[in-house]
Amino acid sequence: MAVSKTHPAEALAEAERSGILLFGENRVQEFEMKRPRLRELGVAAQIHLIGHLQANKSARATELFDAVDTVDSLRLAERLNEAASHLNKTLPILLEIKLSPEPTKAGLDPDAQELPSLLERLPDLPSLPLRGLMTIAPFDDNPEIARACFRRLREIRDKLARTHPQLDFSTLSMGMSGDFEVAIEEGSTLIRIGTALFGERPRPQ
Ligand SMILES: *Cc1c(COP(=O)(O)O)cnc(C)c1O
Repeated sequence: MAVSKTHPAEALAEAERSGILLFGENRVQEFEMKRPRLRELGVAAQIHLIGHLQANKSARATELFDAVDTVDSLRLAERLNEAASHLNKTLPILLEIKLSPEPTKAGLDPDAQELPSLLERLPDLPSLPLRGLMTIAPFDDNPEIARACFRRLREIRDKLARTHPQLDFSTLSMGMSGDFEVAIEEGSTLIRIGTALFGERPRPQ
């Protein structure tokens, strides 16, 4: 996945011409602004939401994106399913798992009750097929810190796939520009690459 946040529509078009088939954007509003230009440029690639989504933006996100890779609560899943069924749309999802102690990182606590409750509920949310799990490793120059996090996500996935054989856990979205090699070694099926493809992003104000 090419992570195109902060980059203009022209950058996505160029990446698509080079063979990229999947993009990740992290903000609903930013993508909404880019989309008319993407249409003009004829960009047809899939676009996933990879940033935290507030429940009150779930209808808009459902319209805009091909998948949401950051579902982190039962309430959000319910809202997305409602919006998707309203639009007659199937919206594949990943569950974001929080494995980093950093308070800024979103995601489901793998040891809290919400995760099993959400998994129990998913078969009743037919517009929201589960495809797997996603995580963001703690920011650290040492890739071995990330490795422990990626390994843990794979172990959680293997366990959940055993206890919930009716659900699809085939996707493991983990690894970014700084740590994708170890993520692949630990079983990533979907790396999310921004900086290494598009260069440095402007720093947020
Ligand atoms: C920005 C972002 C990326 C890409 O990060 P790079 O280090 O630029 O490759 C990947 N995943 C998520 C969730 C992001 O927000």
